[in-house]
Amino acid sequence: MAEMPDIAGNIARVQERIAQAAAKAGRAGEDIKLMLAAKYQPAENLIAAMEAGVNYFGHNLIPQLVEAEAAISTYPHFTSVIGHIQSNKLSTAMDHAQRIDTVDSLKNLQRINRRQEARIAAGEADAPYPVLLQVNSAAAPTQFGCSPQELLELASRGSELPQIEICGLMTIGANTEVEKEIHASFALLQELGAQMQSLPGLSGAKILSMGMTSDLEIAIAHGSTEVRVGTAVFGPRAQK
Ligand SMILES: *Cc1c(COP(=O)(O)O)cnc(C)c1O
Repeated sequence: MAEMPDIAGNIARVQERIAQAAAKAGRAGEDIKLMLAAKYQPAENLIAAMEAGVNYFGHNLIPQLVEAEAAISTYPHFTSVIGHIQSNKLSTAMDHAQRIDTVDSLKNLQRINRRQEARIAAGEADAPYPVLLQVNSAAAPTQFGCSPQELLELASRGSELPQIEICGLMTIGANTEVEKEIHASFALLQELGAQMQSLPGLSGAKILSMGMTSDLEIAIAHGSTEVRVGTAVFGPRAQK
């Protein structure tokens, strides 16, 4: 058994990094939320995080999402999906997460819309389903997300679907040590976010989910409103 990481201490250190990066960017620290990347974490680690004051989680894998949600259902919290989802898992994801942050096709927006119509008809939901659109901001062949060129058209078509609420954008960004490239990918997402907000019906789509353990300061400099942190809080992942 791995030793339990100092989750409360690590969270405090990450909050301090966020506060410093926000101050440097002339932003208010409260405008940046800390989402914990929960993949491969046992429920006890998520509970320790909630006891330390963070109850905002992102899951990559749907089976882990379902298992973790069952284990922490009695705690007030918010969970979104931050990993790529196959179309046939969208419905399960919607039943267990409050938002999907990795939508990158009109086909999947339409599926979510139809499923939410059914959930509303069944009394399981009473509002449009919240999503973020994922953009492959670094044109990385290994990453999902729509291309920057496709984004505005996708957002505009999505905004016409009655049971979809587009809340903003998500990106992984350039996976490199070259800081200039990381800056460029996050700056691109910020610019796309601003353009998207000027489209009809999308002025409220203000979330920019970007920044992880290694690059959250750069993301905050480019307007990130949510950073997704795993390693800095839970330690290196022991993948099963
Ligand atoms: C794992 C993961 C993170 C967190 O990465 P760390 O480097 O461990 O902070 C953030 N976003 C996504 C989509 C992830 O899969």
